[in-house]
Amino acid sequence: MTSRICLILLCFGMSALAADQSVALKAARMFDGKSNALVQNAVVIVQGDKIVDAGSNLPIPSGAQVIDLGDATLSPGFIDAHTHLTADFSGNYNERRLQEVDVNVSEHAIRATAFARATVEAGFTTVRDLGSRLVGSHEFVDVALRNSINKGVVVGPRMLVATKGIGSTGGHFDPTNGFRDFLFGREPDYTDGIADGPDEIRKAVRFEVKNGADVIKAAVSGGVLSLADEVDTPQLTPAEMAALVDESHRLRKKVAVHCHGDQAAHDAIEAGVDSIEHGSFMKPETLTMMKRKGTFLTPTLMATEWIMSKLENYPPALQAKAKAAAAARSEMFRNAVKFGVKISFGTDAAVFPHGQNAKEFKLMVDLGMTPVDALRSATANDAELLGIGHKVGTLEKGKLADVIAMPGDPTSDITATERVLFVMKEGKIIRRGGPIVQGISKSTTPDIAAPVD
Ligand SMILES: [Zn+2]
Repeated sequence: MTSRICLILLCFGMSALAADQSVALKAARMFDGKSNALVQNAVVIVQGDKIVDAGSNLPIPSGAQVIDLGDATLSPGFIDAHTHLTADFSGNYNERRLQEVDVNVSEHAIRATAFARATVEAGFTTVRDLGSRLVGSHEFVDVALRNSINKGVVVGPRMLVATKGIGSTGGHFDPTNGFRDFLFGREPDYTDGIADGPDEIRKAVRFEVKNGADVIKAAVSGGVLSLADEVDTPQLTPAEMAALVDESHRLRKKVAVHCHGDQAAHDAIEAGVDSIEHGSFMKPETLTMMKRKGTFLTPTLMATEWIMSKLENYPPALQAKAKAAAAARSEMFRNAVKFGVKISFGTDAAVFPHGQNAKEFKLMVDLGMTPVDALRSATANDAELLGIGHKVGTLEKGKLADVIAMPGDPTSDITATERVLFVMKEGKIIRRGGPIVQGISKSTTPDIAAPVD
């Protein structure tokens, strides 16, 4: 009995000691998510899962474990506001479509755990995962992945998930688009995210929230990687969009809409959506309206960049759509920066191999964004868009200890973001030192080195 009590006390004593143990992260500089300039001689003090202090030349608490990262820059963990961690669309389009129907859902889920790991090891400690669907399946793989990460079963970023994504019959999200009619025995319905008319849209939103959605995603215009639609046609009516936003906001969920076309963007912004994803063809008047309403733009430059670099992997109809979107998006992005539209960082990871998310930074800077604004988009801006700004997005007292480090100074070379060398999530070190192979070249052969720690 006595020894059992001693053991219990010992266990409590040890966990109390572990929770009290401070860690001091030191580096030559720090981007804190708030300031316009980097802080020199940076110190971030972490205790348990929280930041207890962050600043320049802070005194190190006695007994703290010191991790000196040298000539590096500390940053809040990056956030990607547009991923699809349960999928990999990066290879040959037709092969990928075949995989969707001939690889079973469990295998898709197991692959997703490798994609989650590649993402967090690249410095992305949070993602907003905007749509997870497998034609003919009602499994919620994104919900399962999020829950497994939260329970510590799988290593990965904090996830806010959208489940199926909502869209119209024959629209960008219709999973049977391009297949022979009734190949899957029935037309998709609200349980697949396919809904027509305001009442069905509300039902689809309610169904997704019931099954674990943190955020609602909808397709309001055509898209690049879908066969039976034009890239910029509106796919929901203003009345359907109004129902989408009203129902989602009633249930305290934000609304992200896939949208390339200008008319659809105009209607969606008017309806009060929280972010426009892609936005390729948006005209200056529409961007001005976004600025006025405070709507975020998630540009996903990496998606078009990847498709344009591998055009031979896509059917001719999709090549034409990709070219049209790519031709329009640079001017749209430059205008968005010029007009001061709120820009969130989101990549559409899955269209390109998971783990290469940080390449988006250079594309943003090349199109006129300052390096600090690009860093802010992936930290404080995304935290605000996701509604988690009170927990993450900046390095300051009371925030969760999501801290990463990259070599050198990202404000003089933004590609430093692609070489993250240290990742801490909620006070736990996920990666320390050592290069990893960024991303996964083939979904069947995950090629990620084990973390040093
Ligand atoms: Zn997407």
